[in-house]
Amino acid sequence: MPDLNYLSITEAHELLVAKKISAQELTEFYIGKIRNLNPKIRAILTVCESQALKQAKKVDTKIASGAEIGLLEGIPYTAKDMFLTKGIRTTAASKILEDYIPPYSATVIEKLDQAGAVLIAKVNQDEFAHGGSTENSSYHVTHNPWDLDRVPGGSSGGSAASVAADFGIFSLGTDTGGSIRQPASYCGVTGFKPTYGVVSRYGVIAMASSFDCVGPVARSAKDAQIVFEVIAGKDSKDSTTIALSDKTPRDKKPVGKLKAVFYDDEDSNVVSKGVAAIDSSLLNIQTEASIAELVPLELALAAYYVLVPSEISSNLERYDGVRYGSKAKDSKDLLDSYMKTRSEFLGPEVVRRNIIGTYALSAGYYDAYYKKAMQVRTLIIQALNKVFESNDAILVPTTLEPAFKLGSKSDPVEMYKTDLLTVFANLAGVPAISIPIGFEPTTGLPMGLQIIGKQGDDIKILAIAKHIQSDSNWHNKLKELKL
Ligand code: GLN
Repeated sequence: MPDLNYLSITEAHELLVAKKISAQELTEFYIGKIRNLNPKIRAILTVCESQALKQAKKVDTKIASGAEIGLLEGIPYTAKDMFLTKGIRTTAASKILEDYIPPYSATVIEKLDQAGAVLIAKVNQDEFAHGGSTENSSYHVTHNPWDLDRVPGGSSGGSAASVAADFGIFSLGTDTGGSIRQPASYCGVTGFKPTYGVVSRYGVIAMASSFDCVGPVARSAKDAQIVFEVIAGKDSKDSTTIALSDKTPRDKKPVGKLKAVFYDDEDSNVVSKGVAAIDSSLLNIQTEASIAELVPLELALAAYYVLVPSEISSNLERYDGVRYGSKAKDSKDLLDSYMKTRSEFLGPEVVRRNIIGTYALSAGYYDAYYKKAMQVRTLIIQALNKVFESNDAILVPTTLEPAFKLGSKSDPVEMYKTDLLTVFANLAGVPAISIPIGFEPTTGLPMGLQIIGKQGDDIKILAIAKHIQSDSNWHNKLKELKL
């Protein structure tokens, strides 16, 4: 049998087409890996073995009939537990949805299903995606495959850890303020947050509806693009979706000289060295400007932590123990039932955000907080528009430091600060990708570079990332991981 470790989508596809491996064997290989190694990493919440084998069998029948198969057919993947999966438990890593089995699947899960991809597991995350380390999961923490004492990042920490540990060839995540890019950076994988609205949110458990984006976590930008092309597009079930107008073929190189601004600072030496090594024949990288001078990063972070809790407090109203989900026993009356259900089944960070959001939206405080933060949102959009008038992309580190130690950011504000370099992309709805760019020397841990473009420039951003990866090897270092 060929070596099946750390296959790319194309490599796995070629093995399937050449009949060197069957889709069922490939699925079994990944499930076996999860069984052996997940006790160390704890990235997985639910393994969907029987459904996965059934889907793989369908692909094998198709191959046996001599029919051609698509690139994603038979490819095993994992999905964050924010995606509704028909007949498969979906928890958002919350106790309030502990036994919830959805009656339908998210559009993106359906699209992947139709493309023949094999969902093998639902993965861990921060509860309702509130957090940046996956420590807020109500079930257990997930460990970073590079250093088990460290966090994988969050909130899509299970997605990034499962791609880094090779528990699936790619994963689906959600990004409201950095939750695909930050864990991708901490785990040495590639994570792509598309333009807001390009991928359907139908059937995705809501965090903050005007921020939430769905995107792939993968081993390379090429793999991320293959998945993105399948999940993107207008969806009649999500009125905020838009069609992607850029039809540039996947293999086309970015044309002309691309200019980029880079945020350079003491903490990001690894990233600046990585950027300095990028082939300058295509990317004309201008490093004088600092992102902090172009975009008011601290204002963006403050505005994010007003607007997102506000939307959360509205979206999470539905978890009241009446309509669905867990319900507290022995309550005196309806109000008592609401109070008991929420205090028993929602974790502290979720409660904190609901209180902050309710406060910011209440009469008397609305103008001072919510409205002010919305004005800042407009400022961020204007600031970025200005940058993109003369630049194709912004290159900026994904995070200021590598993955931190488990338990080291117990103060919520310290955790919020880790989002400094990611949230502005969500405030403006622009596409952003994080790719591995080097290793921080004292810890030996991976660091990520973000490439951020203007709305609708998803394909261009992916092309830049692919160009960098075609000329460097950081994304292949995963293969050296010893678990
Ligand atoms: N860490 C950020 C937060 O806690 C981002 C979360 C996300 O993107 N889901 O809000």
